[in-house]
Amino acid sequence: MSGEPQYIGIKESFAFSCGPEKACFNQCCCDLNQFLYPYDVLRLSRALKISTGEFLKLYTYIYCGDTTGLPVVSFMTSAKNNHACPFVTEKGCAVYEDRPAACRMFPLARALSRSREDGSLTEHFAIIEDPICEGFIDGESRSVAAWVENQGLSIYNEKNDRMMELISLKQQMRPGRLDGDDRKEFEMACYDLDAFREGVADGTIAFDADEKAAILKDDDALLGHSITWIRERLFGSHRA
Ligand code: SF4
Ligand code: SF4
Repeated sequence: MSGEPQYIGIKESFAFSCGPEKACFNQCCCDLNQFLYPYDVLRLSRALKISTGEFLKLYTYIYCGDTTGLPVVSFMTSAKNNHACPFVTEKGCAVYEDRPAACRMFPLARALSRSREDGSLTEHFAIIEDPICEGFIDGESRSVAAWVENQGLSIYNEKNDRMMELISLKQQMRPGRLDGDDRKEFEMACYDLDAFREGVADGTIAFDADEKAAILKDDDALLGHSITWIRERLFGSHRA
């Protein structure tokens, strides 16, 4: 997906509709260069009933950022089928209920800024007008806030904002390249959450009894504690 952003406020409206009736149906799921957040990996692996490790191996490509050393996870695609998403079908998205945040957000993009005075976060939105997309033709008008709600984005934004805070902290405290065991632990704690859970289960990764019980039975607790763990381990930061 490409195009120049036009900024839009959360209460402002835009007109957009998407569906199989559009001539461009599924085209936005090809020629893909889509990054995945930890919560995307968790949701998709649960939907497919496989472990996060299997999901990463079967459906993603992980590369290491040149200057940051951070793992970047994206869908595995092939030039043989026009770099199509592994989950696109003739009928549309095969994982629609658990599609990633970026798929839900399109045609909007979302960014955060932090106040230097009180540290509060502000959301910013922009419309991405992709030339291949016919969604703006005869689209239904609704506010950005209604789009966020309708697309089930609140939970994704909440989880993904924690990841963005972690990356921002890394850039402040360890601006160089993350390498070796630090990089491997970052990748496991953020993306291979079932491997992290196994480490907690066998005691390789230490938590107190209550935290351990929560991590073993609840995916929200797993993701929350794993991000806190890597944050403290690498940056010695206080718990969020
Ligand atoms: S209208 Fe836009 S978002 Fe919907 S299928 Fe077409 S290109 Fe994709
Ligand atoms: S996950 Fe679904 S909506 Fe997202 S790119 Fe793949 S097929 Fe398209």
